[in-house]
Formats: sequence, structure tokens, C-alpha cells
Amino acid sequence: MTVVTAAGLGLVTLGAFPSPSSADLESLALDAAAALEGAPAEEIAKWATDTFGARFCVTSSMADAVVAHVFSRVSPGVDVVFLDTGLHFPETLKVRDTVAATMNVNVRSIRPRMTVGQQDGEYGPRLFNRSPDECCYMRKVEPLERALADYDAWATGLRRDESPTRANTPVVAFDPKRGKVKVNPIAAWTQRDVDDYVARWDVPVNELFKLGYGSIGCWPCTRRTKPGEDPRAGRWAMFEKTECGLHV
Ligand code: SF4
Repeated sequence: MTVVTAAGLGLVTLGAFPSPSSADLESLALDAAAALEGAPAEEIAKWATDTFGARFCVTSSMADAVVAHVFSRVSPGVDVVFLDTGLHFPETLKVRDTVAATMNVNVRSIRPRMTVGQQDGEYGPRLFNRSPDECCYMRKVEPLERALADYDAWATGLRRDESPTRANTPVVAFDPKRGKVKVNPIAAWTQRDVDDYVARWDVPVNELFKLGYGSIGCWPCTRRTKPGEDPRAGRWAMFEKTECGLHV
């Protein structure tokens, strides 16, 4: 496997673009996607933090803390954004708190504009059962947009093997809707790669995986999956919905 360094990419860092335009970011992302395909996650992470500096964050659902851990090793102190919907399982919040207490990262919990009680008052109780897109917009999408206003680029833990909808995830992409660069350092990893990394570094993992959950989101919209089932089949199982809107 060829190790591609940021210098090897022939890319300039954003220091050369005090106010990078969408065109600058798109061109940077395209070059990086080609050059970093096949590179180790650590190399992709280093390129991202070298390139974007403080204008970069990691986002984490706290299903596991693998991506946050990779960045904590190559860029200590990096911001880790967690969307605290108010509807997470206690096990998810435990991973968030363990990450904050044990890793050299800066965890930022971003909350929706309305509490769950305020949302119930305005839209009626259990909006997630009637209009999950609306609920996801208010509790996940809008808070993410608000958090990302501070950054030019962000990292996710998306992987190609998670579902058919994620099969073509590039390691670096330009998100034209947000005008930002999205970095997916473990896009090419398999579940086995994740398990090996977790075991090697003793990374915090959501305890619900051991109880039969294949993919973990808010408790009202997550159910256990059967062996052999698509791990994301347990998300919004009563609806056609497969994504919360953060990655589309
Ligand atoms: Fe609401 Fe469910 Fe989306 Fe969470 S996953 S924000 S509960 S619709």
C-alpha cells in the first residue's frame, strides 16, 4: 500500500487561501480523494488537520469512538462534535462521556434549539413516529449545520460496507450543499478492521452492539437487527427512511 503524505499530494494548505471559496475547497477535495484513496486512516486524518487546522472537526454518533481515537493520536485536541438529540440511549451518552474523559479531544455536545418537551408542545408528542424527517431535521440536521458554521471541513465515520447507500463513499469529498469538505478516513474499512482497531487500542464502544443492535441512533428509531440482516435495517424500521439527512 502506498503511503501518501500531505506533502506527497502536491497540495497547498488552506493557509494559502485565507478565505477559501467553494471552488477552492472542491478542487482540494477532488485532488485529495484521488491521492488518498488506499492510504491509512491516520494519513488521511493527518492530511485533514494539516490542511484545515482549527477549521476542522470530527463528528461522532458515539456508536463507537474509532474515528475520534484516530484523530486524537494524530491531532491531539481536535474538536469532536456530538449531536445530542435528547433522545439518545444512556449507553450512547456513556461513550460520549468516556471519550471526553479519556481521549485528548475536545468534545462539543450540540443540542437542538428545542428540548424534547418544547418540541412535543409545538408539534405534538412522538413526532418521530409521524414525521421522522421533520424530527431529524430539528434534532440533527439543523444542529449540525449550526455546528459546522465554525469549520471548512469535517470528518465522519462513514464506511462503504455499512449499507448499499454508502457503498461509494469516497475518503474525501466536497459537499456542495454545505460548501464544505467531508473527510471519511475509514470509508474503506470493514467491520473486521473496526473490531481489530477497537481491540488493539481498547477504544470505547457502545454496549448496545453486544445486545443485538447493528446500528445505533436515537432510541425511538432504533431496533435490534437479526443475524445476517443489513445493520442499518434497525434504523427507522417502520419507514422507508434510511438516512437522517446528515449524509445526503
Ligand atoms: Fe427524531 Fe428519530 Fe431522527 Fe432521532 S432519529 S431525530 S428521534 S426522527
